[in-house]
Amino acid sequence: MHQPLLPDQALIRQRVSLAPFTSFRVGGAADWYAEPRTLDDLAYCTRWAASEGLPMTVLGAGSNLLVSDAGLRGLVISTRFLKKSLFEEDLGQVTVSAGTPLPALSRRLARRGWQGFEWAVGIPGTLGGGIVMNAGAHGGCMADCVLNVKVLGPDGLELWTPEKLNYSYRTSSLQESNYVVVDATLKLSPGADPKQVMEQTNCALRSRKSSQPYDRPSCGSVFRNPTPHSAGWLIEQSGLKGYQIGNAQVAHRHANFILNCGDAKAQDIFDLIRHVQSEISDRWSLMLHPEVKMLGEFQGA
Ligand SMILES: Cc1cc2nc3c(=O)[nH]c(=O)nc-3n(C[C@H](O)[C@H](O)[C@H](O)COP(=O)(O)OP(=O)(O)OC[C@H]3O[C@@H](n4cnc5c(N)ncnc54)[C@H](O)[C@@H]3O)c2cc1C
Repeated sequence: MHQPLLPDQALIRQRVSLAPFTSFRVGGAADWYAEPRTLDDLAYCTRWAASEGLPMTVLGAGSNLLVSDAGLRGLVISTRFLKKSLFEEDLGQVTVSAGTPLPALSRRLARRGWQGFEWAVGIPGTLGGGIVMNAGAHGGCMADCVLNVKVLGPDGLELWTPEKLNYSYRTSSLQESNYVVVDATLKLSPGADPKQVMEQTNCALRSRKSSQPYDRPSCGSVFRNPTPHSAGWLIEQSGLKGYQIGNAQVAHRHANFILNCGDAKAQDIFDLIRHVQSEISDRWSLMLHPEVKMLGEFQGA
């Protein structure tokens, strides 16, 4: 079998546990793991994985991921150290690097009196993950403010327009692609009273904290909302609140959340997702589709 050539070891490390880098706090090790701090380093990582024929996974804040207990093969690239932002006040535009946390960006914009990003304050992901997932809350979403996205692909850097991103509810054409989001330019509305924008931002956060469990590791909403009822409503009506497999539990406070109540295994969470799907299918004749990305191998998949 071909053994990968040893990469630049200051940049790419072998066998790194992914559990600390996911909001569920579960999952095994990546065969190879890198945290590039520059675009050149990011490009080196993608070239090395391609030249060795290794699969590549990009990790933002890991807040929408369930990584299997067996970990991930190939190279995992974390964007967490790519955090620059460039404001163009006169244009109402800001260009933000992929690893920038959405809550910090939302607060920063509010302090400057820029409107249009208050909704993102409680989403614990990065700009890159938000772009890929079309993250949204409180009636706002990424698609509303994206002007363009710089991606790194097999042929180098490209600038993608919203048309090419093909946004709809929690999806974009970047999902399941081999492109890495490098940065994105957002169009927002400067010139408002910072106090007022900050108050709207705080209000969004308060409303989430009163209805969603933030005290235990989770991935936020596990399932996409079908219509006409929300996934949470269907799960609650099916009597599944509090249902537990191992230390993975359907949250009492919000039935579309699954919590890691201690040392849950990724497999427990996976089994609970399947159990909820099967109960909902039996009772309501509809299949709930996970919003969370399940990566790696699971028994019964
Ligand atoms: C408590 C809690 C509340 C939440 N509330 C919401 C909510 O209100 N609304 C909502 O939409 N989501 C919510 N989420 C889910 C999650 O925060 C979002 O989906 C977020 O956009 C994921 O960003 P991330 O950086 O964590 O991405 P990850 O979870 O790290 O990755 C998600 C996907 O994006 C890909 N990806 C990440 N970065 C890049 C990149 N730079 N280039 C290419 N691909 C990339 C990954 O490979 C993966 O496929 C919540 C999660 C939690 C834990």
